[in-house]
Amino acid sequence: MPEVKPLEERPLDKRPVVIEMKGLNKWYDKFHVLKDIDIQVRQGEKVVICGPSGSGKSTMIRTINRLEEHQTGHLIVDGTEMTDDVKNIELIRREVGMVFQQFNLFPHLSILDNVTIAPIWVRKMPRKQAEEIAMTYLERVGISEQARKFPGQLSGGQQQRVAIARALTMQPKIMLFDEPTSALDPEMIKEVLDVMRELADQGMTMMCVTHEMGFAREVADTMVFMDQGQIVEYAGCNDFFNNPREERCKAFLDQIL
Ligand code: ADP
Ligand code: MG
Repeated sequence: MPEVKPLEERPLDKRPVVIEMKGLNKWYDKFHVLKDIDIQVRQGEKVVICGPSGSGKSTMIRTINRLEEHQTGHLIVDGTEMTDDVKNIELIRREVGMVFQQFNLFPHLSILDNVTIAPIWVRKMPRKQAEEIAMTYLERVGISEQARKFPGQLSGGQQQRVAIARALTMQPKIMLFDEPTSALDPEMIKEVLDVMRELADQGMTMMCVTHEMGFAREVADTMVFMDQGQIVEYAGCNDFFNNPREERCKAFLDQIL
């Protein structure tokens, strides 16, 4: 394992830790998919995760959101240890927003209904208030004029921006992205990355799996490279790109840059 620079040496160390994994392990049956994961994400920090297909990136992100369970070690989100307790799952759903590669919009609901369904049904928010908040976020992602349309009437890039607005309407403290631009045609990638960049500028805490290294260089405070279920490289953005320590990481960057 490479020597990982203690987070204390990094400039972000004054901010509270909002996500922490300590010695976290996960198996799918006998397959050891996450191996002793140690990670700390501080409030406002932007962490970009990359690595070959099958290295466990999605599993790690989904574990934070309790879409997957870990077996050993600790996961602490905003000061609360995540266990099987259903209350913790509710906390997670409130505080952590997630955007997937597939936008997962309901095809039979309007854009506005897609964005308000969770605040109305999960948060029990009055419809009018939910719609006001939803419109604010749809405006932010540049989709307010399409609010009455259906997902099928929008481009992939627009649908992904709706998915981001939908997550933001729950007013999360943390946003997780799992390859949000991988299913998009090339000309639509920028419009989604622009929205994410803006969110980053506004101070959102973000963990993002992506191979968009231009975006990563610009936005990431911290880079994580995963391989075979392990964190192989964990470094500040500049160190990561200019001076990767691990051969596997260098080889991966050479391939995609
Ligand atoms: P990545 O996102 O880095 O491509 P994943 O986290 O999706 O990696 O997958 C890591 C490994 O776990 C892969 O070998 C994958 O086949 C396996 N895997 C993913 N999901 C499941 C599952 N639900 N059941 C069993 N194996 C899985
Ligand atoms: Mg994945």
